[in-house]
Amino acid sequence: MSVLEKINSEELIALEDQHGAHNYHPLPVVLSKGKGVYVWDVEGKKYYDFLSAYSAVNQGHCHPKIVNALMEQAQTLTLTSRAFYNDKLGKYEKFITDLFGFDKVPPMNTGAEAVETALKICRKWAYEKKGIDEHQAVIVVCENNFHGRTTIISFSNDENARKNFGPYTEGFIKIPYDDIEALKNVLENNKNIAGFLVEPIQGEAGVYVPSDEFVAKAKALCKQNNVLFIADEVQTGIARTGSLLAVCGNCNCENNCERNPQTYVKPDLLILGKAISGGVYPVSAVLADNAVMNVIKPGQHGSTFGGNPLAAAVATAALEVIQEENLIQNARSLGKLFRSELNKYIQNSTIVSLVRGKGLLNAIVINDSEDSSTAWDICMKLAENGLLAKPTHGNIIRFAPPLVMNEEQLLDCVSIIIKTLKEFER
Ligand code: PLP
Repeated sequence: MSVLEKINSEELIALEDQHGAHNYHPLPVVLSKGKGVYVWDVEGKKYYDFLSAYSAVNQGHCHPKIVNALMEQAQTLTLTSRAFYNDKLGKYEKFITDLFGFDKVPPMNTGAEAVETALKICRKWAYEKKGIDEHQAVIVVCENNFHGRTTIISFSNDENARKNFGPYTEGFIKIPYDDIEALKNVLENNKNIAGFLVEPIQGEAGVYVPSDEFVAKAKALCKQNNVLFIADEVQTGIARTGSLLAVCGNCNCENNCERNPQTYVKPDLLILGKAISGGVYPVSAVLADNAVMNVIKPGQHGSTFGGNPLAAAVATAALEVIQEENLIQNARSLGKLFRSELNKYIQNSTIVSLVRGKGLLNAIVINDSEDSSTAWDICMKLAENGLLAKPTHGNIIRFAPPLVMNEEQLLDCVSIIIKTLKEFER
């Protein structure tokens, strides 16, 4: 069968079922086109995308500027490997380090790969700068974390993600999320701690927003104890939460992040992925200043595709779109509107107990047991009503539309969500 042959949704799902590994459980919707905040299935039905490929498509589907950058570069030079220099990488490295305020970046491809990169840099720094004895470095992580699907699952506490994938990588200590006392305790009682790896908002776990001071206090504790503060902003970064980064805090930047010293918490290692390419190409990055990044020398880390000219061109365009289209501000104001509209509804709802989030990274908690199928059933009904979302953990539904949405579209989405929820009220 030719991959170009036109077949219907059911047949396409059957093909994936038969020939693809069963490592995902998608909603039975087969998409073939996307534009801005919309996607279409193979039968031509139009939907609002309320997931944005797990926050990778912040700039909207097939953004013309990003697609043009891809097409132009694809016809010129795609991959050189890092055996040679290319004419796009240095300019991109300057652009991204200036934008986020760091000295250096190793360009990578996927989020998990960037997390692995940050862990390597952190450990090397611990041995060479902090003076921890060989093989003794420990990294503190949080319960219910999500940092990717490689050996990173060693420090996950999601049994489904971990079971029968051992032996696990050693050298991690888990503490509860948003628990400053637990962090203080562990940092003060273990001299071998190299870093604290944390999501400023836990996305996969169900959009858990920590208390206001958590990130700033955690960074201060890390500094006091000579431990690197490592922020995983793969999902929360790039305007998603209403600031360029979630570690910007409640800043009021109009456009570009000005790194307001009143609110900004600078990580020692910043991990980015997903939306730095606008969902057009896999691009990720780790940013740090020289005191940390310079521990990495030739031959100690790399990737065949990392830093290729295509990725550099795409990521530059994608990050420019965030600034040019005021997506930070848009995410902030539409996020407030979304939560306020849903909160009004929830007051008299028996099916939804809570809406939470920041900017346009939000979730509703369904009032049912964690193992019930209600969240899934609601997502099926939402799809029928023209909006695509997916349950994250158990009974939580994440809502993360592209940030190029306008107010009218958002209110249309709110009415679809409310109309759908009403069908489930008991
Ligand atoms: N870190 C966080 C916070 C994430 O949300 C994700 C993916 O959802 C990752 C890392 C892994 O990214 P990738 O799927 O690109 O490997």
